[in-house]
Amino acid sequence: MMERPRYRKATDVVQLGRDPRKYLGAVNTPIFRATTILFPTVADLEDAALGRYTGLSYGLHGLPTVVDFQSAMAALEGGFAALAVPSGLTATTLPFLALAKPGDHVLVTDVVYGPTRRFCENHLKRLGVDVSYYDPHAGATIERDFRSNTRIVFAESPGSLTFDMQDVPAIAAVAHARGAWLILDNTWATPLGFRAFDHGVDVAVHAATKYIGGHSDLLLGAIVANESTHAPLHRIWTDMGIAASTDDCFLGLRGMRTLATRLAQHQASALKIASWLRARSEVAEVLYPALPGARGHELWKRDFSAASGLFGVVLRPVARERIAAMLNGMRLFGMGWSWGGFESLIIPTYPERTRSATTWHAEGPCLRLHIGLEDADDLIVDLDEGFLRLGA
Ligand SMILES: *Cc1c(COP(=O)(O)O)cnc(C)c1O
Repeated sequence: MMERPRYRKATDVVQLGRDPRKYLGAVNTPIFRATTILFPTVADLEDAALGRYTGLSYGLHGLPTVVDFQSAMAALEGGFAALAVPSGLTATTLPFLALAKPGDHVLVTDVVYGPTRRFCENHLKRLGVDVSYYDPHAGATIERDFRSNTRIVFAESPGSLTFDMQDVPAIAAVAHARGAWLILDNTWATPLGFRAFDHGVDVAVHAATKYIGGHSDLLLGAIVANESTHAPLHRIWTDMGIAASTDDCFLGLRGMRTLATRLAQHQASALKIASWLRARSEVAEVLYPALPGARGHELWKRDFSAASGLFGVVLRPVARERIAAMLNGMRLFGMGWSWGGFESLIIPTYPERTRSATTWHAEGPCLRLHIGLEDADDLIVDLDEGFLRLGA
């Protein structure tokens, strides 16, 4: 086979994970629905039972659409291999089960996605794993939070709700010097915005539900591992029977084809709207690391090559009913969880409720905006009318 040239990301998202010659010339890898796979001979069946069979042996793992999604994710992120899982939350939690054992200690960023934290509290502790949370701004000083039994550091950059940027390479250096693995939730940036393995990450996890799916109709996760972490991850994924469906991986691949194009538009519109918001008297601060002058911008500029369209806003002090009046009347922005689809979203957030190692002091209440693919000027009109209701 000819060596594959190294392409840029916009080409990779179009090219990776498909081979029309294998499927009657079809551009996309088709959906393969199968459970039972028939063996040609008893010898093959016995080889399969002993784990020596190289072909597909059962529909739980190894269907072509799933394998193509996994190989595309691994190549896009630059990891050794990827596993497809049914949700982003499965992707963030499974690595803990694969890599931690009773008596270990794990360090988790204080601004981690809420349900990841809930898993640590409800299950890791019950299984005898110590959990503590660290300041996302710690950088190399995270060493102070290390214990002799610290085995995992879990990062998310920028973090949920307040978009704190982490110095990932500095944290990776400390983790590795102390014999710990660094797991990164890279959902916000996608593999296009942050190359996790170039910055010392051992396991990069993604909610493909967000930008990779891109259309608010898919739940899917991906765990991309380096060579040393892939084996234990593959073991538990196999032993627990965790599988993403062929249909969902088809949609994951379909979303991936337009990821670079969509992300560029999300970023351009988000920057335009974030700058407009920053100039408003109702706004105390915009929490968007891609915005020049915003908190974390220097780290973002150093390490990232793209941004998504999700950011936070700190309002000047205002009564909660005024926020309800603003948000209830939005015409284009919808209110709902998740993000990364083509449509714009806005919700109130409560960052002070989920932290424990740090405290959140802001001048006023917070909002989270997802800037979709509508015309940015139309979105600005919607926000402008919203501010009239806020001030009324
Ligand atoms: C949404 C999200 C997840 C979970 O993804 P689901 O597919 O909804 O389970 C994980 N991490 C981050 C940062 C997220 O925003």
